[in-house]
Amino acid sequence: MSIAKSIAEIEEKIGGKAKLIAVSKKQPNEKLLEAYKAGFKRLGENYVQELCAKQEELPKDIEWHMIGHLQSNKVKYIAPFVHMIHSVDSFKLLKEINKQARKNERTIDCLLQIFIAEEDSKTGMEEQELWDLLANPALKDLENVRICGLMGMSTFTENTAQVEKEFRNLKRIFDKLKEKHPELPATEISMGMSGDWPLAINCGSTMIRVGSAIFGARQ
Ligand SMILES: *Cc1c(COP(=O)(O)O)cnc(C)c1O
Repeated sequence: MSIAKSIAEIEEKIGGKAKLIAVSKKQPNEKLLEAYKAGFKRLGENYVQELCAKQEELPKDIEWHMIGHLQSNKVKYIAPFVHMIHSVDSFKLLKEINKQARKNERTIDCLLQIFIAEEDSKTGMEEQELWDLLANPALKDLENVRICGLMGMSTFTENTAQVEKEFRNLKRIFDKLKEKHPELPATEISMGMSGDWPLAINCGSTMIRVGSAIFGARQ
C-alpha cells in the first residue's frame, strides 16, 4: 500500500481521537517526502544526527517530534527547530532543553517519559521519579519548556492483556498528574505504535507513534 494511503487509512480509523505521528527513523527522505506531498507533516525521529540531516534537507514546515532517547549534550542541535520532545527522562535533561530553548528564543513542548514496560531495555522514569521531578522547586524557573504530558512504551509482546495493563497504568499516572499539578498544561499521552495503537487509543492515548505500518520495514 502507498504511504499516502496508509496514513489516510489510519487517520480514518483514529477518527480524530488522537494525533498521528509518522515515525520516519531509518527511512529514506523520498519516503518522508511522499508523506509530505500527501499533506502529512508530523514526523517522529529517534536519533539526533539523522533528525538534523533530514530537517536540513526537507521542507521547513515539517513538524519534527523527537521520540528517541536524548542525551543532554545533543539538545543544542535540535533546539532551534524541534516541535516536541517526547523522551524527557530527567530534570537535568529538562533543564538543558530549557537553556537551549531560551538561547533560541523559543519555548519547547516536552513530554515526560515513564517506564511502564516489563523489560530492562525500555527507558523512562519510574513513577516516583516523576513526582520528585515535579516537586523540584527549581522547576518553576524553567520558563522555556512546557510540560505537555506523558509518554510511554509498552513491552514488546504478543500478550495484549499485558500491553493493556501497561497503557492503563500510564493513563492512571497521567490522571494523577493532572490532579496533583493542575498548573501544568498537560493534555497529551503519547502511547501506541504500529502493533498496538488501537488498544492505546482505547486506553486514553492522545498521540500515537506509528512507523512500520506507514513506511514499511526500516533499513
Ligand atoms: C520506532 C519507534 C516507534 C514506531 O515503531 P513501529 O513499530 O515501527 O510503529 C514508536 N515509538 C518509538 C519510541 C520508537 O522508537
